[in-house]
Amino acid sequence: MRILNEGKRVRVGDYAFGDGACYVIAGPCAIESRDQILKIAVEAKDKGAHLLRGGIFKPRTSPYDFQGLGLEGLKHMLEAKALTGMPIVTELMDASHLDVFVEHVDLIQIGSRNMYNYSLLKALGETRKPILLKRGFSATIKEWLYAAEHIAKGGNDQIILCERGIRSFDTYTRNVLDLTAVPIMQAETGLPVVVDPSHGTGLRHLVPIMSKGAAAVGADGLLIETHYDPEASVSDKDQTITLDALAGICEHIKNVR
Ligand code: PEP
Ligand code: MN
Repeated sequence: MRILNEGKRVRVGDYAFGDGACYVIAGPCAIESRDQILKIAVEAKDKGAHLLRGGIFKPRTSPYDFQGLGLEGLKHMLEAKALTGMPIVTELMDASHLDVFVEHVDLIQIGSRNMYNYSLLKALGETRKPILLKRGFSATIKEWLYAAEHIAKGGNDQIILCERGIRSFDTYTRNVLDLTAVPIMQAETGLPVVVDPSHGTGLRHLVPIMSKGAAAVGADGLLIETHYDPEASVSDKDQTITLDALAGICEHIKNVR
């Protein structure tokens, strides 16, 4: 038996995901400093983005890479929110931070690597916070769908799904961005589905065109890694776009919806 099956809107701040609009969540892969996130927030808002993203706990493949600023980074995000009014989205990696996230974060991101972390999903089910549930990088549609059910079973149906690409034999792109998952998951769960063309492709020049593709297949939003100086990003620089490129995407979306 499944709980999730009919149309749901998920409200984050002033935005109701699932209402037919395509909301843009933009910001750096990682919060690097106070100045960095404040500058990106102000400019991203000006370019038309609706919500602000940025990692404070980063799941990195190598333990020697930058792991994020932690709760210090959250303070900077909250300042960016106060400055711009943008709701904030950041990844929760560990249940020990759940209470802090419930208190301060508007949309709690569960990353690809934690989609199978059923005890974490269960804990999120006990809250009433909006959750952004990314697809595991090797998860089938069914596994992803049941991960959402793990959250919903606890009584929390405020879930936004995020297609972020899956692994395949082809290594030209970082992942294969599965746009077929958008209409499938919308129909199967009734939940809003957003697309992350940054991790989905790994390549900056493909982000604008795949954003348009996502909007064309009816995505309820986009999650886009953006920086004023992409090449200087401490993580995921190859897939990070400029604020001008972000402006182009926001403009396109405004026109097609
Ligand atoms: C991210 O959005 O920064 C991220 C780490 O994504 P994923 O979990 O999809 O790899
Ligand atoms: Mn990233």
